[in-house]
Amino acid sequence: MSLVNEQWAFVKDLAKLVAKAEELGFMLTGGELSRPREMQELYFKRGSSKTMNSNHLRRLAQDYNIFFEVKLCYDKVKLKPLGDYWESLNEHNRWGGNFKSFLDTPHFERNVP
Ligand SMILES: [Zn+2]
Repeated sequence: MSLVNEQWAFVKDLAKLVAKAEELGFMLTGGELSRPREMQELYFKRGSSKTMNSNHLRRLAQDYNIFFEVKLCYDKVKLKPLGDYWESLNEHNRWGGNFKSFLDTPHFERNVP
């Protein structure tokens, strides 16, 4: 699949994720999707990212501010049903709550080879 077609499929999955979030009682506001290389270098240097190969560089990752009962929520256990749903949509979908090196619960990505 070409990159633009993958990006489109990713955005369509995000639409399903947003609907599921509402169904589960969460409220989302948008965070980063596209990230310039200079910004990635800055995040990497300060430790808020562990890679220089982020899917944000390819527009295949989206961060959300996730609210539960009007409070920002980073809790992996509370957010797990949303992460599980995301990963069920496509074999390449990864939720940051399941990352081994770095817990990143607001992060939803498409990790294609
Ligand atoms: Zn992210």
